[in-house]
Amino acid sequence: MSMVLRDIKAVSPTPSSPASAPILSAPLPQQQPAPIVRPALVNGIRILLECPSWCITDHVAANERHLADVDHSGEMVDVTMTDVDGTPQLLGWFRLSVEPGSSRPELRRPHLLVEDGDGFTAMVALEDADALADSLAAAAVRVRAMARAAG
Ligand SMILES: [Zn+2]
Repeated sequence: MSMVLRDIKAVSPTPSSPASAPILSAPLPQQQPAPIVRPALVNGIRILLECPSWCITDHVAANERHLADVDHSGEMVDVTMTDVDGTPQLLGWFRLSVEPGSSRPELRRPHLLVEDGDGFTAMVALEDADALADSLAAAAVRVRAMARAAG
């Protein structure tokens, strides 16, 4: 499926290097891409599974015990920084997820999974993704302003 590009707007006017590339926003596609049929192992039994087009989970390697435990995950988008001692740090990441076997109906629909790798996990509905992105962009502007005000 092709995305409609005519409504893309640069949020930041700063072009050039990848670190300062403008943040683009675009309308969400109105129609979900067709699922992809992929092999999976469930309790050692080879099956074919319908995955969302964005799923990158290796369902053969995962070899979940029960079909209800098979979740679909998308590519991780990391938020990284460098500590004052030069150590790269991972603040957290975002990824698409859907848990077809979940007892929670809202998790049986695609959603954003937000994790910090240290126990914090939040599930964000796709309809709230723009608000999350706006909040991150606003925080980025404030972080940049703080650093410039101090030095
Ligand atoms: Zn999948």
